[in-house]
Amino acid sequence: MRFSKLLIPTTKETPNDATLASHIYLIRGGFIQSVGGSGLYNFLPLGKKVLDKVRAVVKEELDKSGCQEVSLSFVTPAALWQESGRLEKYGKELLRFKDRKNNDFILGPTHEEMMVNLVRQSVKSYKQLPLNVYQINLKFRDEIRPRFGLMRGREFLMKDAYSFHTNTEDMQREFALMEETYKRIFTRLGLDFRVVEADSGAIGGSGSKEFMVLADSGEDTIVVCENCEYGANIEAAIAKPKHYDASTEVKVMHFKAFYDEGETKYVNFVLPKDIQLQETKACNAVGANDLIEAENVDTVAIVVIDEALKVNVPASNYKAEEVHYADISSVCEGDTCVHCDGILRYTKGIEAGHIFQLGTQYSKPLGCNFLDENGKSVPMVMGTYGIGVSRLLAGIIEQNHDDKGCIWTKESAPFDVQVIVSNIKDEAQVALGEKVYQALKEKNIDVLLDDRKERFGPKIKDFELLGIPYAVVIGKKLSDGMVEIITRAGLEKEEIVAENVVESIIQKVL
Ligand SMILES: [Zn+2]
Repeated sequence: MRFSKLLIPTTKETPNDATLASHIYLIRGGFIQSVGGSGLYNFLPLGKKVLDKVRAVVKEELDKSGCQEVSLSFVTPAALWQESGRLEKYGKELLRFKDRKNNDFILGPTHEEMMVNLVRQSVKSYKQLPLNVYQINLKFRDEIRPRFGLMRGREFLMKDAYSFHTNTEDMQREFALMEETYKRIFTRLGLDFRVVEADSGAIGGSGSKEFMVLADSGEDTIVVCENCEYGANIEAAIAKPKHYDASTEVKVMHFKAFYDEGETKYVNFVLPKDIQLQETKACNAVGANDLIEAENVDTVAIVVIDEALKVNVPASNYKAEEVHYADISSVCEGDTCVHCDGILRYTKGIEAGHIFQLGTQYSKPLGCNFLDENGKSVPMVMGTYGIGVSRLLAGIIEQNHDDKGCIWTKESAPFDVQVIVSNIKDEAQVALGEKVYQALKEKNIDVLLDDRKERFGPKIKDFELLGIPYAVVIGKKLSDGMVEIITRAGLEKEEIVAENVVESIIQKVL
């Protein structure tokens, strides 16, 4: 494609609200455009091209693993969410509206109900299972404070897959297959990532794993072992229990716990004085939806004592309707790995994928049943698997950029190579530019020819900002028969005999 014909509105202006590199460079590079500063984005030709490339990698690998793509209706009848019980529970992030007949609808932030509805209408027998269906479609979450560009927008492109099985063992087999499939996707996209155990609430164990793109700007703190593969979101991380003796000072923390239908309880957490409370673990320990620190507490319903104090702090020390022990402490850097005695460290990650063993949480209330071999009707066992496709664009750039702009990875780059004609008035340069452009196209290399009537300065700045892996610069040295190849990562330059440039690029790109 020719730069002169493409809509690539690059700019030097950094958007006011942008702090992350991906946000700044995707806007400045003309990949995306903010719509009224409200967490909504248009994808311009270059951004759409990257999105399609990332989408294609995701689709190829899922299809290879036997998943089937469908496309669900974008607008979701609220009645389906009523059936699953989520309509009331889901807060203001769910966008609700009415049609002209006064029927209630929502824009789905996730599509368990819709997919279960699709399957319950078309699958009746164990002979039709297992099944893994997915879509790559828009989702909407009415974030109170959308920020960080594509990282936390309100509308986003997501791949969500749902698998249906006759039993838990088969669902776990698919869960393991999806973990391997995701590893292939993230590896092909050139990402440095870690698979970590995630908080899975009531399900517990390794029922839920997140795929974290490692980046200092990541919002999630993850705990990783220096020695083995162990990794977990801080909310789910565990360490070898520390030993405390009877003289250990303890602290008691007061909270108000929130439950379904507005129910609240006062709860206390007891833990060693020098240890931090992990709020997600604490929430799970009292089965609440949310916790808020409280000051004046009259009647305490539940007391949870950290497991580390099991030997030294008897439950009889506390008066409440219920007193029990649970792991409610936050893992610290330097703690010991439960698997290998290695040292645990913190790192930062961007959650770009999540796989989850669902069980019958949705199939039961929505009546998604099948007839087993004995003709008995039983609910299907489900798994769910998400990838934030538009978020991946931000993740790739968070991990791959410098102070000049984007550095796309091989399979995500909008073009393989950019051919820059330095002086558009120099006939020999223009002629070679055309020749190289055509020759590369014939070899199926995706090439962008910068044929704009611009000076060399802005052209090279745009190359650095756009982050295409290689540039061929056809400039003054052509009079000596030489051109230059620049590798975007590291901005290394090499001089090449003009006649060999096509061959050199082919070797680098293929
Ligand atoms: Zn370890």
